[in-house]
Amino acid sequence: MINRTMQHLGEERSVIRELFEYGNMRKAVVGEENVFDFSIGNPSVPAPDFVQSEIRRLIDTVPPEKLHGYTSAPGAPEVRKAVSDYIESKFGVPMSEGFIYMTCGAAASLSIAITALCEEGDEFAVIAPFFPEYRVYAEGAGAKVVVVPSAEDFHLDFDALDRAIGGRTKAVILNSPNNPTGAVLSAEELTRLGALLERKSLEKGESIFLLADEPYRELTYGVEVPFPMKYYHDTILCYSFSKSLSLAGERIGYIAVSPFCCHAEDLFAAVCGAGRTLGYVCAPALFQRVCAASLGRSSDVGEYRKNRDLLYKALTEMGYECVPPEGAFYLFVKALGGDAVAFSERAKKYELLLVPSDSFGVKGYVRISYCVARSVIERSLPAFRKLYEEYKGIKN
Ligand code: PLP
Repeated sequence: MINRTMQHLGEERSVIRELFEYGNMRKAVVGEENVFDFSIGNPSVPAPDFVQSEIRRLIDTVPPEKLHGYTSAPGAPEVRKAVSDYIESKFGVPMSEGFIYMTCGAAASLSIAITALCEEGDEFAVIAPFFPEYRVYAEGAGAKVVVVPSAEDFHLDFDALDRAIGGRTKAVILNSPNNPTGAVLSAEELTRLGALLERKSLEKGESIFLLADEPYRELTYGVEVPFPMKYYHDTILCYSFSKSLSLAGERIGYIAVSPFCCHAEDLFAAVCGAGRTLGYVCAPALFQRVCAASLGRSSDVGEYRKNRDLLYKALTEMGYECVPPEGAFYLFVKALGGDAVAFSERAKKYELLLVPSDSFGVKGYVRISYCVARSVIERSLPAFRKLYEEYKGIKN
């Protein structure tokens, strides 16, 4: 026999991937320029020039057997040191390379951190709308996911959190800037959350952790992203360079365990153990070094800002209701007619590929990934207008 849970996971197509494949099929039929694919969060802005030159420099100067060989499992020592120095100087929190573990992107950071923490009967609280893969990682580790609704503006609902966090909660997973809403949590929210987790940990008699999933940290539009370790001691940062440096296919990120975590050294050892269990030998060696040299740099966020401004202004002028995004590269739009799946289906008639919000744990919205060429947004606007008019016609 085989593991039926794994079989099911492998057969189940993610809604986002399904739309993406549908888009490729439609492009072959009606022409690439006539399909408006807003399904997937693949960065459209190239990696900074520096990244390309650093790749070339490393290839030209480091002997290949060294450059492409295994590194230590948690990462090359000089890379871990560069990351910990960066965190210390940028955010003003004490860090040491002994708490940095290089990973294959945020997906690996999260699955490793969850596996490191998870014991039988544990719950992980996720705040809806949430990145659908959280469920896969938590359930894969044997935990239960508890979905906590957010407030109407997609910021934290503290009453809901208070009700949801209890004796079985192992961690709360937080994602800011947020996929799919673009919301960025404020310092005030993190202060309140820190106090809540502290109280709940005392009631439980052991630590409840904060897993901060931050692949979009650098992609913001004029707002500060507070650093969660400053607000709560039992914090594990799950970082990735996929979006900030447009390196999504290279699979590179890191875990930073706060040195103030309860039994931080044991926890870090558990992170290393979880990495082993999941079969991660080390993160890609070349890109560990590329990223260590690129800390603090990011792709041109101005390009995403222009896309956001264009799309937000055009859609709201047409009559759509959207959440104004403060970060990341997604616009969360109220589904006309209220049923997100039906709305997404109807949008296909105009070759608009919009992801229904149901798989993110909320109903009634669609996610538009605006990490696309500006011309795609410009060409899509008449289609959005026709879609709106069709709904208005149906209602009248
Ligand atoms: N977390 C969130 C909120 C994401 O949006 C994504 C990817 O889209 C990930 C994690 C996984 O990122 P990575 O490609 O670095 O594994």
